[in-house]
Amino acid sequence: MDAYSGEQETGMTAHMGTARLGPAERSAALAQMAAQELDVVVVGGGVVGAGVALDAATRGLSVGLVEARDFASGTSSRSSKLIHGGLRYLEQLNFDLVREALQERALLLQRIAPHLVRAVPFLFPLTHLGWERPYVGAGLVLYDSLGFSFGFTRGVPGHRHLSRKRALRLAPALRRSAFTGAIQYWDAQVDDARYVMTMLRTAAAYGAHVASRSQVVGFLREGERVTGVRVRDLEAGEELEVRARQVVNATGVWTDDIQALVGGRGQIHVRASKGVHLVVPRDRIHSYTGVILRTEKSVLFVIPWGRHWIIGTTDTEWSLDKAHPAASRSDIDYVLDHVNSVLSVPLTRDDVEGVYAGLRPLLAGESDETSKLSREHVVAHPVPGLVMIAGGKYTTYRVMARDAVDAVAHGLAQRVPPSCTDRIPLAGAEGYQALWNSRHRLARESGLHVARIEHLLQRYGSLIEEVLTLIADRPDLAGPLSGADDYLRAEIVYAATHEGARHLNDVLTRRTHISIETFHRGVAVAQEAAELLAGPLEWDAEQVKREVEYYTKRVEAERASQEQDTDQEADAIRMGAPEIVPVASD
Ligand SMILES: Cc1cc2nc3c(=O)[nH]c(=O)nc-3n(C[C@H](O)[C@H](O)[C@H](O)COP(=O)(O)OP(=O)(O)OC[C@H]3O[C@@H](n4cnc5c(N)ncnc54)[C@H](O)[C@@H]3O)c2cc1C
Repeated sequence: MDAYSGEQETGMTAHMGTARLGPAERSAALAQMAAQELDVVVVGGGVVGAGVALDAATRGLSVGLVEARDFASGTSSRSSKLIHGGLRYLEQLNFDLVREALQERALLLQRIAPHLVRAVPFLFPLTHLGWERPYVGAGLVLYDSLGFSFGFTRGVPGHRHLSRKRALRLAPALRRSAFTGAIQYWDAQVDDARYVMTMLRTAAAYGAHVASRSQVVGFLREGERVTGVRVRDLEAGEELEVRARQVVNATGVWTDDIQALVGGRGQIHVRASKGVHLVVPRDRIHSYTGVILRTEKSVLFVIPWGRHWIIGTTDTEWSLDKAHPAASRSDIDYVLDHVNSVLSVPLTRDDVEGVYAGLRPLLAGESDETSKLSREHVVAHPVPGLVMIAGGKYTTYRVMARDAVDAVAHGLAQRVPPSCTDRIPLAGAEGYQALWNSRHRLARESGLHVARIEHLLQRYGSLIEEVLTLIADRPDLAGPLSGADDYLRAEIVYAATHEGARHLNDVLTRRTHISIETFHRGVAVAQEAAELLAGPLEWDAEQVKREVEYYTKRVEAERASQEQDTDQEADAIRMGAPEIVPVASD
């Protein structure tokens, strides 16, 4: 048996820790979806759609999920990667939203995904003497106390007040004159793209059929009722009909496009607001803690991210291309100007390794200021057979998914058990703590450095065993990629065999984050990575060349767009680089 094969898992026989999303599983999932009437088909493989698939599958429903591009390639890989209550919602007195989000934070940290969700400290620099410390301090007392839930502890340490001197010890990079003192508090962070993929693997282990590069291009109808979707398998160029008793639309900023496919006036309208983040190397900002800064409209975070910092974000209306929102020079300057206002050694554009932009799916409201629009979600049942879910934020995906599947259950007119996802750990969570405690043994046995094992454990949890087995079978995969040494060659192969990656871009952007974590943005490792993917994805030399060319063009177009002053110019240049698997135009 070669390293790529292995026992075929069907949804029904799969068990936790072994559900894989390789090419064979994708074909099997599409065949299964075409062959039967499902209880539910979910449109969209972002965090909300993946959450709906897991919620429905664990209630015993038969489920399919189709995603037009790569899993999490929309907003769900482009967020600030925080699992948080949102301090600014507290300031807007939206206590219910904050409480709900903090309860989710506790659950994700401690039960659902302790391998993927981690506590992270933030420093809140105070700039006014007198009123500000008691005001922010009171908010943080509330923030900390709202975080207790489900019989769990908060999962993160409480806040503490700091003098300017002590704050400077934690964050020597801050300019002394930029603040008067500080408060440190804790939140949590997640690798957003990997979380979605892991949730889809978990859903598949509970029987869900999931397929990427499968676009919904129309709806099946019987009279007014929606009875399924027409799906184009974008890899094979074929169309299939997926019949389902209920369809759930979880397409984020594409919600209105899907509504247009259904016809009629939709009940939900979603508009997009762009947020841009910069990534800089860790050594450019000397600090042992993240930092949160107030801006005119909202807040700006400086977030520790492995050997890097993520800095963002912006908040501006966006009505151009939704799949590849472009960051302009003005966006980058905005972020740099704000962070530089507190740094003693300012960052320049030369310090920027990576840039990414994402679109918030905001429920269209009265206010013209996108940052004031609601982050809460809505569920609608516009016609029989169709449930729409939109809005919300990453942190509360599980609540959104539960509400959507409750609406599905209503439409199925049968007894469906209540949601149980608060008790369903994601793949890799079970056994994670024990393996973390045994990391020195794992390092000895595998011959890898303990720091490497820690990195792997925080990406795979207990599924690390599968990656280590792959390395044991193929020692040539034990070394790092030359040019992106945070990642092992084995991880590239595993992304294709187990994690649903189908193209080079999927691996360099979402299974790893090489595209934002290196100054070359992945171009220097593209050839090596493509050659590693060629085996499991059955590419010939021509396809390897194509993958590298498409990836390189994408990076060039992004770099050029980031030199443009306006969104329109940046978008026009970004659109010059085609997708390797184009989606069907509406
Ligand atoms: C800059 C920024 C920062 C953020 N930071 C945070 C944060 O720190 N914490 C937090 O909690 N939230 C944050 N959010 C919000 C959070 O990221 C989003 O609310 C969440 O990711 C939305 O997920 P989704 O599944 O609704 O949408 P998406 O992830 O966009 O998923 C929708 C999917 O539908 C697919 N699709 C579209 N049309 C079709 C079709 N016809 N057929 C099949 N598939 C289709 C798309 O390809 C896409 O993958 C942030 C958002 C942004 C933009």
